[in-house]
Amino acid sequence: MENSTQKAVILLKTDKDDQWSAYLQQVMPELEVRFWPDVGEATQINYALLWNPPEELFEKLTHLQVIFSIGAGIDGILKVKSRPAHIPLVRLSDKELTNGMVQYVIYAVLRIHRNMVNYDRLQNNREWGFYQQIAANDCRVGIMGLGQLGMACVQALKALGYNIIGFSRTKKNVDGVQCYDQSQLQEFLKRTEILVCLLPLTTQTKHILNKSTFNQLPRGASIINVGRGGHLNENDLLEALDNEHINHAVLDVFEIEPLPQDHAFWLHPKITLTPHIASQTVPASAVSHIVKGIKRHQSGQPLEFLYDPELGY
Ligand code: NDP
Repeated sequence: MENSTQKAVILLKTDKDDQWSAYLQQVMPELEVRFWPDVGEATQINYALLWNPPEELFEKLTHLQVIFSIGAGIDGILKVKSRPAHIPLVRLSDKELTNGMVQYVIYAVLRIHRNMVNYDRLQNNREWGFYQQIAANDCRVGIMGLGQLGMACVQALKALGYNIIGFSRTKKNVDGVQCYDQSQLQEFLKRTEILVCLLPLTTQTKHILNKSTFNQLPRGASIINVGRGGHLNENDLLEALDNEHINHAVLDVFEIEPLPQDHAFWLHPKITLTPHIASQTVPASAVSHIVKGIKRHQSGQPLEFLYDPELGY
């Protein structure tokens, strides 16, 4: 049974604290929302909504019962050494977050498939020119990671007529989509023309986009990385772009963020980059997932979307 003093939520300082606070109060007025580092009586805090928390946070919050990530990736929380491993960590699952990712991946696939990089160049040169239009069905998009986000992208791209193949740890069964498991990476890469990385960053997936991966893709293939910067070996990509094995890369995430001013990616003609905005959490929508989790926890029901330490995601 909940102790009446145990009702606080703590938020880390983010640029959306006001929104989180307002929506949480609206949906669950009995919650008290506090903002790091003003924890007040720290023992009253049972739930933390976090994104890249500082080490000191967990040392203070001795009565924490559940950690909620306010983004789909949890690598920023996992890297904090003081995180108590026994406290359940819940990943974000939210319709708007998924929608945002689907929109971005569609944009990136279209940018590559419909030659928009070259049309940008033509416009810059005031040139009226044409590139051959390839049917979507003749353009094979390989999605790495068939989780919440990857699967939504599969369905959306399939609806646009693309030829989709998928890769995940365990084999999936998706109508009209050839799926490969983690032992079949080579077969998957061999058939992929536009590679979309939507994997979680784990010890197994770090630098999975490397020289060997690129060499297994057909010449002229393109890369879209919306997972994490740690998935990509940046020097290997530069080399593959320079030797023309890889045609173009759309990158939203980077090893170091913000991307350093002098980084070679900024002005590379074969790279389209965005500042980690593929999908941003929308508090108005995501708050219902958090509140549902708190209510499940308070009523003793098992939590959903839990981080699995064995898998690392
Ligand atoms: P999920 O956990 O739902 O899905 C992860 C998928 O990756 C699963 O299909 C899983 O396989 C597969 N996978 C995990 N490890 C491996 C491996 N070693 N080899 C092959 N497949 C593997 O994650 P989400 O779809 O919710 O999110 C994916 C990632 O997207 C996040 O972790 C985050 O890094 C990134 N992201 C980026 C954003 C941005 O703005 N750029 C915004 C939001 C998320 P299986 O199904 O068999 O378990």
